Amino acid sequence: MNVQASRPRRLESYVCGNWTAGAKEGVPLLDASTGAPVAFIDSSGIDFASTLAYGREKAGPALRRLSFHERAAMLKALGLALMERKEEFYALSTATGATRADSWVDIDGGIGTLLSYASKGRRELPNTRVLVDGDVETLARDGTFAARHILSPLQGVAVHINAFNFPCWGMLEKLAPTLLAGMPAIVKPASQTAYLTELVVRRMIDTGILPEGGVQLISGSVGDLLDHVDGQDVVTFTGSATTGRKLKSHPAVIGNSVRFTMEADSLNASVLGLDAGPGTEEFDLFVKEVAREMTSKAGQKCTAIRRVIAPRAHCDALVAALGERLGKTVLGNPADENVRMGPLASLDQRTEVRERIRDLLEDAEIVAGDPDTPRIISGDAESGAFLNPVLLYCDRPWEAKAVHDVEAFGPVSTVMPYDTGEEAVDLTRRGKGSLVASVFTNDPAFAEEVVLGMAPFHGRVLIGNRVSAKTSTGHGSPLPGLVHGGPGRAGGGEELGGMRGVKHYMQRTAVQGSPTMLSAVTGRWVADAEARSGGEHPFRKSLAELRIGDQLVTASRTVTLADIEHFANFTGDTFYAHMDEEAAKANPFFDGRVAHGYLIVSFAAGLFVDPAPGPVLANYGVDNLRFLTPVNPGDTLTVQLTCKEINPRADAEHGEVRWDCRVTNQNGVTVAQYDVLTMVAKTRS
Ligand code: NDP
Repeated sequence: MNVQASRPRRLESYVCGNWTAGAKEGVPLLDASTGAPVAFIDSSGIDFASTLAYGREKAGPALRRLSFHERAAMLKALGLALMERKEEFYALSTATGATRADSWVDIDGGIGTLLSYASKGRRELPNTRVLVDGDVETLARDGTFAARHILSPLQGVAVHINAFNFPCWGMLEKLAPTLLAGMPAIVKPASQTAYLTELVVRRMIDTGILPEGGVQLISGSVGDLLDHVDGQDVVTFTGSATTGRKLKSHPAVIGNSVRFTMEADSLNASVLGLDAGPGTEEFDLFVKEVAREMTSKAGQKCTAIRRVIAPRAHCDALVAALGERLGKTVLGNPADENVRMGPLASLDQRTEVRERIRDLLEDAEIVAGDPDTPRIISGDAESGAFLNPVLLYCDRPWEAKAVHDVEAFGPVSTVMPYDTGEEAVDLTRRGKGSLVASVFTNDPAFAEEVVLGMAPFHGRVLIGNRVSAKTSTGHGSPLPGLVHGGPGRAGGGEELGGMRGVKHYMQRTAVQGSPTMLSAVTGRWVADAEARSGGEHPFRKSLAELRIGDQLVTASRTVTLADIEHFANFTGDTFYAHMDEEAAKANPFFDGRVAHGYLIVSFAAGLFVDPAPGPVLANYGVDNLRFLTPVNPGDTLTVQLTCKEINPRADAEHGEVRWDCRVTNQNGVTVAQYDVLTMVAKTRS
């Protein structure tokens, strides 16, 4: 189906396993450049309580049955399937006012986020259904009582209420961590650009990759849906602070302590360093970055630079350079390939932005760009939502209010002067909390002062300079592995951040009990839990045969002075504590010459390794290595090696096994402790 070429159609919602049009014809959604109707939207007649129940009852259990790696594989398959269809999304995206470059951020950026979560999930999460969080907390000296935190998926539905500016990325950046956590979602896109979200969801459902009800879509109002959310559900919101606050204070959200994540207005700032005057590479980079942030997506990005904070001495040069660059921006219908900036998403949005510019004029003057008469090369100046980039200058930002309070959600920024690093920090903080700030400087001391000053008020801070000029991902790009969200005015929420984002959809529970009970519950062996030793060497067992708690207690080996000297001369590590009795005695930690820590680890391997070819394929590292007690010549070492975690890989013939390794001396005192990491074949060859 070529969606763009077809007549305006009624968008459908995907609820309870069916595509359903609203009971009424609905509100027309217009092409941002031409004003022509693209689609009609209405969700009346949907039973929202049943939609929630369907997600909870049908999809929740199906998703929770999958392991993290299986969910990651699902995301990967979904991402690849969407990637194959992306030209269809690009074609429709033009109607939202997005240029090809804008759509790349939304479409490739959104699908890329799915794929990134797929790969991080497989690499960073175990192949289990439950996560452990942090170490075991010992609660009894005799080892009979301990605790561990676990994270398990919430059993409700994540309701994602999204903004109009990123109809694809806005959905996928929230869906990726939600589905990886094992929670189903209901997506509610902003009406204005919902036709693109609807198409992407349609293609997702067509693939059949998701469990039924894993993703449902509401095209139009969410009606009474929020009346039915409960403490196992999550609501996330991106949009205006006014709507966000209203939803956050919804009686069911408050009454049932529903997790609510909000991403709202953000008056992001970018600071030009005191060292970065005209003629420096940082000055040129700054001009480029501010102009790009103002014009990409026509400034309709929650991360766009709204406040440009520059040394007073360089403000004139900056305004001139920015004015010149912005003046060259080619504005028009994004279907025209010469166009570099498209219209705003709708005429209402343009009216709104013009009003906000009027608010800003209380404190600032326009120094570049006419907000009233767009200079376009294509599109319809009357019915298209075009707006020139508008640069303002506020000479007295200390006395100003509007420039720190009003978000004109379009190609609009205000330059303001500062004299010291402290002042620059103070101005950024007047935004009362933002998603992102940046500083362009080649002076590490200035970067330290400004970044540490700004950090508590921002979710992300970017430092730009000549070194990262070509590789920097830029001020305005949230990345899957980095936190996206900010305190205060920005909503106080946090999204993405790699696996941090997944945990927002899970409940953290402290589980207390005996070590054996904790091992059974978490699927990870913990110290002092029951173990089985004495049978076949665990390195002879395949992944299918191995169980957590399988243990090897080795023979013993006495460390001699000759061993220490041999190791020292062989490796070249002749540190005095191993070689010089007097000097070693003078050291507060030792009572004479001691064995090298790495000698202990090497002897331990010699004790526990089973040498013949077998299911253990490789030792790929150790974690958390600690030398706890010095080993002196004459001490006798024994190793206890216990299978702690087993992670079969979904797409390979092997998996990872983590072994708890304890090396003790003749008195039973632990001298070294660490995890040994091995790859083990799934079956015996
Ligand atoms: P809104 O806050 O009006 O809408 C955001 C989302 O909330 C949309 O999906 C909208 O749906 C939905 N919504 C609105 N009212 C309700 C309700 N009562 N119950 C449930 N859902 C609701 O923001 P807009 O998208 O209209 O943008 C307005 C302004 O918000 C922009 O001009 C900009 O200043 C700011 N904004 C900020 C963003 C940021 O990340 N910082 C991102 C986008 C906007 P529907 O579209 O169907 O009304």
